[in-house]
Amino acid sequence: MQWFAKLVNIAANTVTDSLWQANCPLCRRSTDRILCKDCDRQISACQSPEFLQADYPILPDLPLYSWGIYDGALKRAIAACKYGNHPAIMEAIAEKIAATWKRSPHAKEFIQNHKKLSVIPIPLHANKLKSRGFNQAEILAHRFCDLIAWPCHPQFLQRVKDTKAQMQTKSITEREQNLSHAFAVPLLHRSPQTNPRSVILVDDIYTTGATIREAITTLAHSNLIVRAVIVISRPQFKK
Ligand SMILES: [Zn+2]
Repeated sequence: MQWFAKLVNIAANTVTDSLWQANCPLCRRSTDRILCKDCDRQISACQSPEFLQADYPILPDLPLYSWGIYDGALKRAIAACKYGNHPAIMEAIAEKIAATWKRSPHAKEFIQNHKKLSVIPIPLHANKLKSRGFNQAEILAHRFCDLIAWPCHPQFLQRVKDTKAQMQTKSITEREQNLSHAFAVPLLHRSPQTNPRSVILVDDIYTTGATIREAITTLAHSNLIVRAVIVISRPQFKK
């Protein structure tokens, strides 16, 4: 009956292979991980030399941690995730950010100064969530929190206004009006003034910071105080 055992073994291996072998969402080559080694390396090459952004672009004293430069393979990977329906790409990127966070001396210092942190991803409006099928920032935040052992609370912040893409707005005033009252904190998750909660916001791309600032203001009204923002990437502007 040895041939039978062999046959069972071959069949089992074939099943395992077909379960674990998939195509890389970026180049379509076969891989046993989310991204193939080559694409993974290309994304790693987009890592920014500075994780903590030295210019504090959001608000003075509010740290922005940006893992990479929004260009090349990283830009393509984010686009493939959002517009090509590949949510798993966010998990692969979250693993890179978590590894960087664990090594960063700035992050270590930050954790020493802030206890009991919760993570909130920037939410999508229900309409966009319906058309995309997932919120990339939420997948990113969940995987990051799994690896860092922090609580992730997407339910703390809602996007109540179906805003236009900021790029479609023509003036600063229109941009501000577009985002004004875009977010809300459900009553259940508001903190009392006597016991504010420290939170970290997570998003995929940091550009003008207008969305992030609006979210920070809304959260602050409910005593959810943003202590830092973590994003995958930020465009590098030529100086
Ligand atoms: Zn690939």
